[in-house]
Amino acid sequence: MGEVKNCPICGQLFNDIGIRDVCGNCGADEERKYEEVYRFLRRRENRAATIERIVEATGCTEEMLHKWVRKGRLQPALFPNLGYPCDNCGKLTQTGKLCESCSTNLQKDLNVFEAGREFREGVARRERGTYLSEKTKRY
Ligand SMILES: [Zn+2]
Ligand SMILES: [Zn+2]
Repeated sequence: MGEVKNCPICGQLFNDIGIRDVCGNCGADEERKYEEVYRFLRRRENRAATIERIVEATGCTEEMLHKWVRKGRLQPALFPNLGYPCDNCGKLTQTGKLCESCSTNLQKDLNVFEAGREFREGVARRERGTYLSEKTKRY
């Protein structure tokens, strides 16, 4: 059983059973492209090819390459110029969802946020403390 969906590439209806996100035809097409890309990259002189170069030489799309790197079908360790866009700035990255500079920035922001929260909590605690002690004084 699956869910009937429109194929994002050709628009045809297909039964999505969780194996792939495109219809059977486009899936087979993608596999053929993958074989081609793989053959292309196996040649030593193509190891360092850029995404633009691979798209030009094999007729696959950038999106396909991004997807294969993300899924680990093309290993960035072997092909240094491959990657997929960072969720934040769109720069190519090879690990995680964010590129290195965005994850460093995010970490910095988080630290600032954490420090700010501790400060605010400290203030709130002190205010509560004063309030309570004034209250007890009055009664
Ligand atoms: Zn399709
Ligand atoms: Zn980034």
